[in-house]
Amino acid sequence: MLNIVLFGPPGAGKGTQAEKLVKKYQLVHLSTGDIFRANIKNGTELGKLAKGYMDKGELVPDEVTIKMLESEVGKYAYPKGFIFDGFPRTTAQAQALDKFLATRNLSITITLALEVDEEELTKRILLRGKESGRADDQDENIVRNRVKEYNNKTAPLKEFYLKQEKLKTIQGAGGIDDIFTELCKMIEANAKTV
Ligand code: ADP
Repeated sequence: MLNIVLFGPPGAGKGTQAEKLVKKYQLVHLSTGDIFRANIKNGTELGKLAKGYMDKGELVPDEVTIKMLESEVGKYAYPKGFIFDGFPRTTAQAQALDKFLATRNLSITITLALEVDEEELTKRILLRGKESGRADDQDENIVRNRVKEYNNKTAPLKEFYLKQEKLKTIQGAGGIDDIFTELCKMIEANAKTV
């Protein structure tokens, strides 16, 4: 199985690249942000809880997020692999993911980190907000808070995957197709299963 963690700050292009990778390698795409948004739309209890945090640009608590992710993974019997987009976002989430995958004799194959500088991120997200209407993309204070959460809680995870020798970093400022080509090269050089 090919299990990819797509890593990077909000607005780095994780969702865009995830869609392309999913098509090419026939993976299951699990975006925690998308799952939370679907829950909000459907008015579930999980959605109500998540909304309070998302509206402020804060992370949803680990316990809730981990439980949700595990239940999503459990829905697929024989996938070719998963692409985790927006998860893990904290060390506790990364540890829980490793532990959970291990119980199924699985592991993360590679972590692909997209790097984009902060000013470019803010610009991209505010533009996306105008086009998509996503509330947390329209308010500059919320956007800056998300970047802050990323720097404080998520960026340290690079060290976690570096220690496991799974981290591959790429500049996310180039063209969509060029970045995609680079990501595919990294995957194929590192994943024996492809
Ligand atoms: P972006 O990467 O642009 O911030 P996402 O859709 O990945 O967009 O996330 C939107 C919001 O959903 C986050 O700001 C956070 O509140 C919540 N969220 C998504 N994934 C997680 C996660 N793994 N842990 C905690 N909160 C999350």
